[in-house]
Amino acid sequence: MPTKSKSSKAKKSPSSKTPKYVYSFGNGKADGNGKMKALLGGKGANLAEMTRIRLPVPPGFTISTEVCTYYYDHKRTYPPALEKQIDEAIHKLETAMGKKFGDQKDPLLVAVRSGARDSMPGMMDTILNLGLNDRTVRALAERSKNERFAYDCYRRFLQMYGDVVMGVQKRAGEDHEPFEVVIEELKKELFPKDPHVSDTKLDATALRTLTDRFRKLIRDRTGKDFPEDPREQLRGAVGAVFGSWNNERAIIYRRKYNIPHEWGTAVNVQAMVFGNTGNDSGSGVSFTRDPATGEKVLYGEFLLNAQGEDVVAGVRTPEPVLQLQVEMPEVYRQLQDVRLTLESHFHDMQDFEFTVEQGRLFMLQTRNGKRTGFAAVRIAVEMVKEKLIKPDDAIQRIPADSLSQLLAPVFDSRARKTTQVIARGLPAGPGAASGKIYFSANEAEAAAQRGEKVLLVRVETSPEDIRGMLAAEGILTARGGVSSHAALVARQMGKVCVCGASELQIDYASNTLHVRGQNFRKGDFLSIDGTTGEIFPGEVKTSPSDIVRVLIDKDLTPAESPIYRVFAQLMQWADQRRTMEVRANADQPDQVGHAVAFGAQGVGLCRTEHMFFEGDRIDHVREMILAENGDERGKALAKLLPAQRSDFAGIFKALKGLPATIRFLDPPLHEFIPHDEASQRDLAEKLGISVDRVARRVKELHEFNPMLGHRGCRLGIVYPEISEMQARAVFEAAAEVQASGIKVRPEIMIPLVGFPKELELQIALVHNVAAQVQKERNVKFSYLVGTMIEIPRACVVADEIAKSAQFFSFGTNDLTQTTLGMSRDDAGSFLPRYQEEEIVRQNPFAVLDQGGVGKLMETAVKLGRSTRKDIKLGICGEHGGEPDSVKFCHRLGLAYVSCSPFRLPIARLAAAQAALKN
Ligand code: ADP
Ligand code: MG
Ligand code: MG
Repeated sequence: MPTKSKSSKAKKSPSSKTPKYVYSFGNGKADGNGKMKALLGGKGANLAEMTRIRLPVPPGFTISTEVCTYYYDHKRTYPPALEKQIDEAIHKLETAMGKKFGDQKDPLLVAVRSGARDSMPGMMDTILNLGLNDRTVRALAERSKNERFAYDCYRRFLQMYGDVVMGVQKRAGEDHEPFEVVIEELKKELFPKDPHVSDTKLDATALRTLTDRFRKLIRDRTGKDFPEDPREQLRGAVGAVFGSWNNERAIIYRRKYNIPHEWGTAVNVQAMVFGNTGNDSGSGVSFTRDPATGEKVLYGEFLLNAQGEDVVAGVRTPEPVLQLQVEMPEVYRQLQDVRLTLESHFHDMQDFEFTVEQGRLFMLQTRNGKRTGFAAVRIAVEMVKEKLIKPDDAIQRIPADSLSQLLAPVFDSRARKTTQVIARGLPAGPGAASGKIYFSANEAEAAAQRGEKVLLVRVETSPEDIRGMLAAEGILTARGGVSSHAALVARQMGKVCVCGASELQIDYASNTLHVRGQNFRKGDFLSIDGTTGEIFPGEVKTSPSDIVRVLIDKDLTPAESPIYRVFAQLMQWADQRRTMEVRANADQPDQVGHAVAFGAQGVGLCRTEHMFFEGDRIDHVREMILAENGDERGKALAKLLPAQRSDFAGIFKALKGLPATIRFLDPPLHEFIPHDEASQRDLAEKLGISVDRVARRVKELHEFNPMLGHRGCRLGIVYPEISEMQARAVFEAAAEVQASGIKVRPEIMIPLVGFPKELELQIALVHNVAAQVQKERNVKFSYLVGTMIEIPRACVVADEIAKSAQFFSFGTNDLTQTTLGMSRDDAGSFLPRYQEEEIVRQNPFAVLDQGGVGKLMETAVKLGRSTRKDIKLGICGEHGGEPDSVKFCHRLGLAYVSCSPFRLPIARLAAAQAALKN
């Protein structure tokens, strides 16, 4: 025994003493693999994986995310064991490449690349050509016999290193990057007649001059010399990558996508390959399928004679990757192979980066590609058909929220025909958007806060524009391709985007847009179609999506709409798997019809008061409110009864036997009566009473906190005749519709209950009316009576409430307001700050506060079931259509979620995802 434990300890100790921080990859072997994203970041893990499956990846190593965590936990210092491990990894890399770091004859050059667990486009900075200095650049020139190439690499390195590591950046008030200014100045000197020539026109001597001026710029701006020693360069670059994890852009991005700050980034150090050695080289970005439409084609772009960043930065507009078929047929063939290899290995659409060095293809990155909602659905469904994945995978991989894009309106085809296209760009984010144009992200954000519909128009976007992009309906750029920053971010946010519309002349200084002889100023309307790339002047009318046309308008058949067919297939798979039902919040017969078309299995919330505003009903409602006594009130209610009855009958018919949860009157009465003098006079005249009486009643009904005032069941308790009328309307409609042969399942819901007695009183009243109607009409019908759980007190006495309630439906809008003590309508003034400070992660009125409100729900569920084992449970707040909240409801064991009709597909998919998680 003792010997055994000793020996195993001895074996273990070296590895358990010094944690492994550095993971090498190259020549078909890798320390890491694709599953290690938490430790190696997405980029590092997939570089290892691609190496393992023998794709041509330049060798290198990954410094793990644990180092980043250590770095921030230890006042920005590194673990002691790191230095040695990096030394060893560099040595390995040198051997693999047959080159040495800092060598005077054949120097090894590396790329230093950040890589978080989830890709964060444009947020972190990459440094290429590290290892160059005044001497190694000459060695590179000699070995490559290409001086221009060597100095091009060097000036790029100086520029990136100066910017990212040494902080030589635009100062407040400066419009241009300082390095770009130096380039522009040199071009002016060399090409006075044509100062806007492309960078490719700069020859070796010019580029060499540039490197001198860059070094001087760095010295002038920072007071420090650019470091010559490659190891010092590497140290600086690694530190900058870790440092950039906490720059403002990265923080904003993480907040938006809920990426925890603790995750940290990895750093990848990788041998350089060169896309800028001439016209047999280049750099590209591609997708294994079209990320906008999902079509199964190689899709992407390529820049001849360029280093990677040029493609993404949108500085030169690249050519479609299909062009390589003509220019580099062999590379093109290899790319097609790579495409198949990647998809059959990763089982998902890949977004990959590559570089061609003198005709040789190198893979630099791959990841699951971001895609539009359209593409997400099409790709997932088609991959099932191709047997690459299973229906369960298809369901799990589509972000439920992205379905909203498929339902979003498009431009009305007639309106579009009569509007002249003023220009075209690349379709980068599908959908239709109209808005007032703004040329800066800040102004766009401010305008959106004022409630305007906004289009952000930029020459190109950069990460600092994120807030403006978020605020805009759509994004329009003049430069950049389908993998430019604008396109990437828009796709992810689900924003409408047209990019690279090169005819647009945008002048930031005068806030104008000039195109084909027309001028548009800041604040003018434009419309963009992100599906076709078209740009229209003014505001163009929109029309419903394919899905809506097939399901609701019925002016399109499934056979005519491919996107409808894949959508329907996905919904079928989802419905087969989910265990929770979905219902709709709908108040009128036509809405109920739509809801059923979208897959509703009943109405989860019918707000009866919405029916009060139609036609002359509002007059009867007002008469009822102004009544001085029960008699008068009774008379007014009698006039309302037929209207309510016919609404309910319409709803029952539209439901064809599905259940309908009908909530009794909820809002405070003053919401129904006019507050201005003129309307009060009109009303007085109509009802034949004095204006004073109207004014007096308005005053009486005034409340300081209407949300907490005389509303909900408190109305039915003080004015039982209101509840009686509503119950009668429901039951008479039920009797009527049932007589016509349609099954009816009314579920009467009493709102805002906190005390068991409140519910008992209302339930007794409802049973009473039900008995009367059944007797009068000599029929029998079944119905339920339950309550909305929307006050914390109800949650904690749910066992008592369940004695009389046959069902609970969580009214999470009010439950959130009352639990948080926050009014939804007033929270806008402080919630943004709360999110910035991370007091709350998300808006609790959109995404259920699981830690607080959710706890109360859990309590209510437990207590409710302790009294009534089979109590029916559901949710009818806004949260019922929000994917995370839906999943929470599934875990609570609710029978259904209810949401607005257009969110039903999202709820169905989210419910299926929740069921598959178990
Ligand atoms: P990002 O995360 O912003 O995409 P990357 O680390 O992928 O940053 O680098 C950006 C670009 O730099 C890549 O698309 C690629 O073209 C280029 N690049 C990265 N590593 C290398 C390398 N080893 N050799 C040549 N180019 C590289
Ligand atoms: Mg990349
Ligand atoms: Mg409520």
